[in-house]
Amino acid sequence: MGISSTKITVLKPAVFLDRDGTLNVQVIRDGKPYAPRELKDFKLFPDVVESCAALKKAGYLLIVATNQPDVGRGDMPKATVEAMHAELLRLIPSLDLIEVSYDSGKEPTPRRKPEPGMLLDAAKTLNIDLSRSWMVGDRWRDVDCGKRAGVKTVFIDYAYDEVLQAKPDYTVSNFKAAAEVILKATMS
Ligand SMILES: [Mg+2]
Repeated sequence: MGISSTKITVLKPAVFLDRDGTLNVQVIRDGKPYAPRELKDFKLFPDVVESCAALKKAGYLLIVATNQPDVGRGDMPKATVEAMHAELLRLIPSLDLIEVSYDSGKEPTPRRKPEPGMLLDAAKTLNIDLSRSWMVGDRWRDVDCGKRAGVKTVFIDYAYDEVLQAKPDYTVSNFKAAAEVILKATMS
């Protein structure tokens, strides 16, 4: 009889974060939000760094999940998005991972929101407990993606010209308020 060993995997909760309109300032045209096209236009909202640090301190992994279809459509170089993400990791040191979908959106694909692939892939990589996790975003795709992944959802409402599909668990008006909702729910 050998000595048996048991490997215990501790699952951790995460907050999944949309990028444009959630962490960094979106470009709004005709009531719809868009990603900045150039690195010089990539700017975080106020309080994002502090709010992320507070979520991290409360025990959450922080994972960005972002659709960047302009790359798949050939309208933007992948290198520009990669430079933005290097900047994002520099500005927000509490981030654990950035998941990106470059899919054009011409047809549904498993990792492009509202499909939950980016969240499910990250959950596998980092041993995440989805039942204790959250998705924060400013569009219906983020809310639906969170629902499909089985996490709680916080919608940041900028009153875009866009109709929600699934109903979010919480609605707020900025990222700081989203983080406060999560922190409050964590403590109760
Ligand atoms: Mg967004």
